[in-house]
Amino acid sequence: MINQAFDISQAIKKRVESFKTDNKISEIGEVTFVGDGIARATGLTNVMSNEMLIFENGTVGVAQNLEQHDVGIIVLGEYSNIHEGDIVKRTGEILDVPVGEALIGRVVNALGQPIDGKGPILSQKRRPVEAEAPSIMQRQSVNESLPTGLKVVDALVPIGKGQRELIIGDRQTGKTTIAVDAILNQKGKGTLCIYVAIGQKESTVKALVDTFEKHGAMSYTTVVSASASQPSPMLYIAPYAGAAIGEEFMYAGKDVLIVYDDLSKQAAAYREISLLLRRPPGREAYPGDVFYLHSRLLERSARLSDALGGGSLTALPIIETQAGDISAYIPTNVISITDGQIFLQRDLFSSGVRPALAAGLSVSRVGGAAQTKAMKKVSGTLRIDLASYRELAAFTQFGTDLDAATQQKLNRGKRTVEVLKQNQHSPLSVEEQVVILFALTQGVLDTLSIRDISQFEVGLIEYLSVEKPEFMAQIRNEGTLPDEEELLSAIKAYRETFVPTVLS
Ligand code: ATP
Ligand code: MG
Repeated sequence: MINQAFDISQAIKKRVESFKTDNKISEIGEVTFVGDGIARATGLTNVMSNEMLIFENGTVGVAQNLEQHDVGIIVLGEYSNIHEGDIVKRTGEILDVPVGEALIGRVVNALGQPIDGKGPILSQKRRPVEAEAPSIMQRQSVNESLPTGLKVVDALVPIGKGQRELIIGDRQTGKTTIAVDAILNQKGKGTLCIYVAIGQKESTVKALVDTFEKHGAMSYTTVVSASASQPSPMLYIAPYAGAAIGEEFMYAGKDVLIVYDDLSKQAAAYREISLLLRRPPGREAYPGDVFYLHSRLLERSARLSDALGGGSLTALPIIETQAGDISAYIPTNVISITDGQIFLQRDLFSSGVRPALAAGLSVSRVGGAAQTKAMKKVSGTLRIDLASYRELAAFTQFGTDLDAATQQKLNRGKRTVEVLKQNQHSPLSVEEQVVILFALTQGVLDTLSIRDISQFEVGLIEYLSVEKPEFMAQIRNEGTLPDEEELLSAIKAYRETFVPTVLS
């Protein structure tokens, strides 16, 4: 009897020890709550963080908060027809997006699904939306420039391949335009571009795609859009999806430029999700890990080592400020993550200085290493010239009698400001920028009236391209200045013949 009982208890023990939960059962959960782009579900015992889940209506969700009794899920898509009591299935896979050549020239949503009506995206390859950044050993330092075609940026805050340069400023100060111009300037240069639109109106994104098409930029660009009308989880995911698409190219040895327009809206979407998932709010009601939201995204930008193919992912994140306050929470975070910032100022913008880059507050911490010798030479004193001009201008606005030297400095300053203005969507090549800045710093423009300067610039480029193509070629191919005296005399020769068109 005793023996038999012992046998039974042994048998039970064995069974208990070898008991495994049947995966198939825990693969399915039940929705207990749904609303505002998030859901909760019970029964998904083995679900992984960031695992893709499928709701009964086919919508994709992603497991976020893994808690003791249930799982917090962000819903990537339509959630109005998900109901309490619905079944939600595990997929066993981390959220990913299609990547590769098939994405070039396409407009996709945060899940990589086409939204441009140009048919399905035929790509076998996928990459996880969240990925680890390359390690230090896998990188090399920034040593090649990525020209934006904007004089003021390429001269004062040069960007190198693999760099992260923040574009920051108030509403309507030309932030998007700088990024878009940088993309337009990559035409024919072999750099692929990705523009991630976060929380913008669909009509705005449409207009932007039209601009890209008009300038022939869609042939090397992918647009990822999570528009303002979409649920906030899509806005939260979109930048990571864009990064994944960019990484595929980078690891294939290509150069990639990615624009995140803008990360303020991503942070706001993330705050919304976090509050709905009942994560504790911190400063400005953002969750405690909002820094990590942007750092893990921007760390994925890199210049890879030659052993890994030497590809690069250059990032231009955009942040919107309120009344120029760069010391608010999100701006300070992103400033500290990036390698420099282009700070755009409202008063400059409205006084017609466009791009409205504030020279004193803008910086590029690594790009200088990648500037060509010629560009370094002509832009060397530009920043100081501008700063001293601003100081003088403020100081002398009340005075009347100015000595000749001060007058001269003011003259040069005014012309410098004028030369650094640039119309949107008209990028200049490096050699064109160099000759213009050379003419400026050599004083050739000092005798021109301010309003004739832009016409002079256009004419000078045309003249040198025809008369001295070898000069232009040297600056372009070797990155060095031609013999300075010869270059100056060529410019002066054009100055002699220059006749401004009289404006009626
Ligand atoms: P938002 O805060 O709405 O996103 P933004 O800071 O991105 O605005 P943009 O949309 O780039 O600003 O520019 C605002 C307006 O200024 C646009 O109409 C644009 O065409 C114009 N603009 C920007 N830069 C220039 C420029 N260099 N020359 C002429 N117009 C410009
Ligand atoms: Mg914008």
